[in-house]
Amino acid sequence: MTTLRLVLGDQLNSRHSWFAQVDPEVVYVLMEIRQETDYVLHHAQKILAIFAAMRRFARALRAAGHRVHYLAIDAPANHQHLCTNLDALIARYAVRRFEYQAPDEWRLDQMLEHYACKLSISAQMVDSEHFLSGRREALSWFGSRERWLMERFYRHMRLRHAVLLDGSGEPAGGRWNFDADNRNPWRGTPPLPADIRTHHDHAALWKAITAAGVNSFGAPQAHSLPWPQDRAEALQQLEAFVANALPQFGPYQDAMHSEAPRLFHGLLSFALNTKMLAPREVIARVEQAWRAGAVPLASAEGFIRQVLGWREYVRNVYWSRMPEYGKLNALDHRRPLPSWFWNGRTHMRCLALAIGQSLSDAYAHHIQRLMVIGNFALLAGLDPQAVHRWYLGVYIDAFEWVELPNTLGMSQYADGGQITTKPYISGAAYIDRMGDYCKGCQYDKRARTGANACPYNALYWQFLDRHRGRLGTLPRLAVAYRQWDRFSTEARAEVREHAELTLQQLDSL
Ligand code: FAD
Repeated sequence: MTTLRLVLGDQLNSRHSWFAQVDPEVVYVLMEIRQETDYVLHHAQKILAIFAAMRRFARALRAAGHRVHYLAIDAPANHQHLCTNLDALIARYAVRRFEYQAPDEWRLDQMLEHYACKLSISAQMVDSEHFLSGRREALSWFGSRERWLMERFYRHMRLRHAVLLDGSGEPAGGRWNFDADNRNPWRGTPPLPADIRTHHDHAALWKAITAAGVNSFGAPQAHSLPWPQDRAEALQQLEAFVANALPQFGPYQDAMHSEAPRLFHGLLSFALNTKMLAPREVIARVEQAWRAGAVPLASAEGFIRQVLGWREYVRNVYWSRMPEYGKLNALDHRRPLPSWFWNGRTHMRCLALAIGQSLSDAYAHHIQRLMVIGNFALLAGLDPQAVHRWYLGVYIDAFEWVELPNTLGMSQYADGGQITTKPYISGAAYIDRMGDYCKGCQYDKRARTGANACPYNALYWQFLDRHRGRLGTLPRLAVAYRQWDRFSTEARAEVREHAELTLQQLDSL
């Protein structure tokens, strides 16, 4: 009796219990399909890196003795659709049982659930054995509360998984959160960690992908793709991060610098989200480094909060609130993306750098995503759906379960504040404080109005002004509103007028 087991492109977990034993009656299937390359326009590196890692995974399974059916993008028998391919394979292998791991995306979960229901053979979804919390676990203790606070979830996770606790079960160092210690700009020192990633030549695969008619954007770097292709490479990267970058991760977590696209960040999200690495082992390794005295607590805690807190939390938000969550637009923002989102050609230096880097590297760190690109999109009232599609396409680590709550919720406030206590907005002053992005920019970071004024400034005040009805009572915006109210009537009128003009010329900024 043959069993067909589906492995999706973000389920490359070689330590899943499925693979513990070789069973000649089990066929594993992996497929490169247009359905998955085309549901949004993707960065070239994302398509390449996922397909290359899938191929490597399939080879490793075969080498371990498993039966594998691999459908390459250009295989004549590839119908380019998940369910049609599954139908053909079920017939070909006379399959009597179909199994799949819980997909992380709503879209695929629905598709497979529907497909499995209609099958005349038995079908089962099994756990992906990756996450540290259930899909909707937070529902049970946040209940019907409108706003879910990450910090509460995070403390619960620390206690439940006994992470960074002292002997009496209290938070190590006497505090749950060292965020306040973690806000330095980087000015050239300490030295940056070396990038030890292996670069891969995938020119042949790239040729096959383009020949199959797949559209994409961004630089493919097909001769020199820097993303890990398997667990061994991902583990090497984790070790290098812990040794060379983690000690400085905390203090420079929010910094931005034109000569340091990565700063002290981990570059581990692709390996984590494709499940080459387990969050449990990454957290354990970081905690161990702190316990061995190699890493300050503020850095270890800052990093662990991202993986044990934010990553698990946004997944819970996604699964508890989909599909409605994906359609939210609380601020009724409708503007299309300016053309420079696709080529980085804007005179605003911060955006040219952050978007330029995203297009060339398929990577930007958190503050670039949130306080440069996302901040501008929110201030300019860009359509959150268009912003979501751009983020889902451009980043190497973008899978909807993690990207959507971050973009629509945290960054665009399109959920009306379900996961944040205020919108993440700022004028030029914040961007200038956190790095060198304003240096040499043609716009004046101090000016609010006038031809050379930094567009963030007038847009910031106009955003607060136009959304006063909804945001005016938020305690965390009280200071900003008091400041706005101290502007003279003429100054307010000038800001409104300049912001309107700016919005009419977004493409040419
Ligand atoms: P590091 O700074 O080294 O952080 C360590 C790890 O913590 C990351 O690898 C990631 O797994 C996790 N992490 C950190 N912040 C978050 C967060 N807010 N939510 C979930 N996990 C987090 N992350 C994604 O993995 N995929 C996305 O599609 C994605 N889209 C984002 C969109 C926006 C608008 C914003 C503001 C953030 C987004 N993030 C996303 C979160 C974060 O920016 C990335 O996880 C991080 O930049 C990845 O780089 P790194 O591995 O160097 O991270």
